[in-house]
Amino acid sequence: MSQQKRIETELLPFIQGASQYIGREMNMILKDHHTVSVRVAMGFPDTYAIGTGSLAMQIIYHLLNARSDTLCERVFCPWIDAADRMRAINLPLFTLESYTAVREFDIFALTVPYEMLYSNILEMLDLAGIALFSRDRKETDPLVIAGGSQMDNPEPFADFIDAAVIGDAEATLPAFIDAYKELKSQNLKRDDILLNLAKRFPWLYVPKFYKIEYNDDHTIRCVTPTIDGIALPVKREITLDLDAAPYPTAPIVPIHNVVHDRINIEIMRGCPNVCRFCHEGYTRKPVRKRSIEKIIELAKETYANTGLTEISLCSLSSADYPNLEKLFTELNDYFAPKHVSIALPSLRVEKQLQIIPSQTSKVRKAPLTIALEAGSERLRKMIHKNIDLENLKPAVLEAYRCGWRGVKLYFMVGFPGETPDDLIDLVELADEIGQWRKSIAGRPAEVNVSISFLVPKSQTPMQWLGQKSLEYFENSINILRQAVRPYRHIKLSYHDRFRSRLEAIFARGNRTLSAALYQAWKNGARFDSWDDTFQYQRWLDAFAATNTDADFFANRNFGPTEILPWDHIDISLKKSLLMSHLKEMVANAPEIKDFYSPPDV
Ligand code: SF4
Repeated sequence: MSQQKRIETELLPFIQGASQYIGREMNMILKDHHTVSVRVAMGFPDTYAIGTGSLAMQIIYHLLNARSDTLCERVFCPWIDAADRMRAINLPLFTLESYTAVREFDIFALTVPYEMLYSNILEMLDLAGIALFSRDRKETDPLVIAGGSQMDNPEPFADFIDAAVIGDAEATLPAFIDAYKELKSQNLKRDDILLNLAKRFPWLYVPKFYKIEYNDDHTIRCVTPTIDGIALPVKREITLDLDAAPYPTAPIVPIHNVVHDRINIEIMRGCPNVCRFCHEGYTRKPVRKRSIEKIIELAKETYANTGLTEISLCSLSSADYPNLEKLFTELNDYFAPKHVSIALPSLRVEKQLQIIPSQTSKVRKAPLTIALEAGSERLRKMIHKNIDLENLKPAVLEAYRCGWRGVKLYFMVGFPGETPDDLIDLVELADEIGQWRKSIAGRPAEVNVSISFLVPKSQTPMQWLGQKSLEYFENSINILRQAVRPYRHIKLSYHDRFRSRLEAIFARGNRTLSAALYQAWKNGARFDSWDDTFQYQRWLDAFAATNTDADFFANRNFGPTEILPWDHIDISLKKSLLMSHLKEMVANAPEIKDFYSPPDV
């Protein structure tokens, strides 16, 4: 029986949400496997509903399929019922386009945007019948290549990948595919192909060619290439000219319910701000903007190819796009008569003020959200989150006047030097912002306060700082709950602090974590970013079984001269710059001098 027949008769009738496994969407690209030289299975390690909207995945899909010598097909992590059924009937992981088994492709490419997807990647490899550890793979297995922001510190996952691409897809993949095609035609062995690729491309990290040695205290002593001629450090490659970069103007239009079913136009890459905790803010420099003309051209083309009625202008911080109003006006002039709305997902509220009048009539009213991050001005100054309440107030008042009844405020807890008073300030600020509505509507606004816990990220000034303990987070929640009690218009919600701890472990982790990760997956860990499937105990058991000291990665302050697990990945940021930002934070917050006072580097 063919693979397709088996899927239709033995899998789909027995699982929920079967339509997410069958492809056949508008703009799907199906090519003949016999007419191309390179076949890529492109994996997103979460469900179809989450992954289909991934712009990175859409870019790679169209970039590769635009080549006549290459095909690219998609695969997502099957939900638990589907995975169980696939194992029961011995059906390997397959792509949505041709239902071909992933292990039959040349390359299994994975995009990894956040830490909590690692267990899903192991699940996908296992379902595909591909050995989990790179060292165990057979000659016939595809090359397992990862990319995305988690590869700025690939080490916790290094044992499971054959290579990591450090940089933008448009700047790296065309050359990668050219080289792979040439090497494949020479019938080289896997390791020879990897070696050849690593020597050619300074942005390609092949972990098995780098030896990591450790000191007695388990910190890293040195990182050494095991062969001559490969890069140390591995250097990030970027796309400089966004206008010239290919763009997926015929994206997949899903048939299954998805989280973001809209046209995504990336207007800018990188963020001009440097909030001290923000991995994306530091690592996606320099800021690159698309021109207004190009954005409008792409939006028109994508609309014609999809018929979708919402356009999202996406970037890390759309408020900082120069000439946003002009862009907005020109888009509206064209799209408003067609009843196509424009969404502005990451606007700062000061900027919303400038366009709110037009928003009310022509544009879907996005929820009013403000990322304040810290409650006190002192902490906001320390982390470089420059929000001026004097500017904020008229903006919020204008929004209330235009009909917004509520506001969502995002805060983080766990900054160095944070005190209980800062947490009280946070609640008082939330109340104040809600009360501003009284002068307009006679009653305060509903205020949703979302609390996340600081995860110190690699390649930021926070990389040296240990995360606060779980007890600290629990205490903070209690203080906030107590403080919010008198205010009926404020609702508090929290991220899962156990998941935040795991994120810190993997954000600051090294290669030795692979044993714990493997064990956690064996314990049943998968879909760790989903509340109903995440079980912290599986991870605790895995750390215990593998003798992994989680505090060493999550809570320890790294020494100022210590070799960090990601030091051999050069994303064009000088370590001395990050250290100077850390020292500036210490200078601005004298009470954390004891917490961390690095000597001059
Ligand atoms: S504005 Fe947002 S994206 Fe930019 S650095 Fe700050 S937190 Fe990061």
